[in-house]
Amino acid sequence: MQLYEKYPVYLTNSLTRNKEKFEPITPGYVGIYLCGPTVYGDPHLGHARSAISFDIVNRYFRHLGYKVRYVRNITDVGHLENDADEGEDKILKKARLEQLEPMQVVQLYTNSYRRAMEQLNVLPPDIEPTATGHIIEQIELTKKILEQGLAYEVNGSVYFDLKKYLATGKYGELSGKVVEDLLVNTRDTEGMEEKRFPLDFALWKKAQPQHIMRWPSPWGEGFPGWHIECTAMSAKYLGVPFDIHGGGMDLQFPHHECEIAQGFGAFGKSPVKYWMHNNMLTISGQKMAKSLGNFINLQQFFTGNHPLLAQAYSPMTIRFFMLQAHYRSTLDFSNEALQAAEKALKRLTNSLTTLQKMEHPGANRSTELDATLHSYVEQLYQNMSDDFNTAKTLAVLFDMSARINEFKSDRTRLYETSTEAFQQFKIAYEVFIQDVLGLKEETGQDHQLLEGTLRILIELRKKARAERNFALSDKIRDDLKALGIQLMDGKDGEINWTLE
Ligand SMILES: [Zn+2]
Repeated sequence: MQLYEKYPVYLTNSLTRNKEKFEPITPGYVGIYLCGPTVYGDPHLGHARSAISFDIVNRYFRHLGYKVRYVRNITDVGHLENDADEGEDKILKKARLEQLEPMQVVQLYTNSYRRAMEQLNVLPPDIEPTATGHIIEQIELTKKILEQGLAYEVNGSVYFDLKKYLATGKYGELSGKVVEDLLVNTRDTEGMEEKRFPLDFALWKKAQPQHIMRWPSPWGEGFPGWHIECTAMSAKYLGVPFDIHGGGMDLQFPHHECEIAQGFGAFGKSPVKYWMHNNMLTISGQKMAKSLGNFINLQQFFTGNHPLLAQAYSPMTIRFFMLQAHYRSTLDFSNEALQAAEKALKRLTNSLTTLQKMEHPGANRSTELDATLHSYVEQLYQNMSDDFNTAKTLAVLFDMSARINEFKSDRTRLYETSTEAFQQFKIAYEVFIQDVLGLKEETGQDHQLLEGTLRILIELRKKARAERNFALSDKIRDDLKALGIQLMDGKDGEINWTLE
């Protein structure tokens, strides 16, 4: 018997807004598609929250014995500014500003995204398809939607015929948006005169002469719309329909609503069985935005190099902090909350070290505590199977941690348990922390040592510069650079460091 038979999973389906029992389309198998990053900037907390939320889903399904195929894409073309059919491609804009090839921008930020995910102990997806690698599939899909009569071509661009689709009554089902309200808020934007209905969206866009990222198509040279890539790649690797589509709540509209429309347009059915969305986060109560100066990327959290950060926070502290909240709840970051999370995580991992060294004496006077130990294990499964409630799961782990400390201070209590119950307790504690929640041990002490040592070197370098000993100050900088540590001179004379 597989664990998933014993502990069936219930999850909140954003489409029905109900908690539903998870029944995979193919027994024993789970297909998951998560909208990955648009790679035009450094990964930030929003990326981390989405990736960690669905890493938990992926990990727990695997732990329960399912065979999982987890697809997380990379958007490297087609995502325009304002998330609509107007403005510049986000990647092209970055390339223009930094005088790079668009594919250089893509590679740079794909690398930094993958590196941050590895630091956060997010398991890599089984398939990580890119939009530019699936242009043919996107063209084929667009042709299908045209054949079904749910799209039309104008001047080398192809638009989805939303007015026709409205007859299905499906539009707005996921996001709760009402067409009349949307129409009121529709601005007159570029390309609008080509659309038959203001809410029609692009499946394929004709490339203007200055647009570098372009491909031949039956409608002339152009590039795909943003939404079509996810429909094309999920259908290719997971089939239609597939089990679970995930993403941040901000993607419900228009992105996921359009994916549903495209699925109907191409295949005549809803492409997804369960939609799951993680909630957003704030920093000290404010929305995270470049304009508010509170935009902190992940490497800045890991090194503490940001004016709003009181210290560096390790990747596991960030991960643990996110798991303290349910993925459907909002989450507020602050130095106080992160410092508390750092301490709490330490308590948990200290207990793990204690437990790993603890052996059951092999004899028992009674089995008075066995039922308690069993019930902890039961609760771990019940909480995770209840819509992946990591917050409640952590609460149980802390109860277990208190019990471990009790065993440590009074070993005679171990005689009140059977070897079997103790072993089960021990394994569950270890497996839920490390495999299910993905909290790995960090060489935190090494990081503090490095941080402290670098502070000394930075002070020495400041002193050398003040004394106009530039040979020494340059040597410190260059030798550190050779080790992959880059010093950055700030405006106010402050010197920060970053790992290259
Ligand atoms: Zn997507």
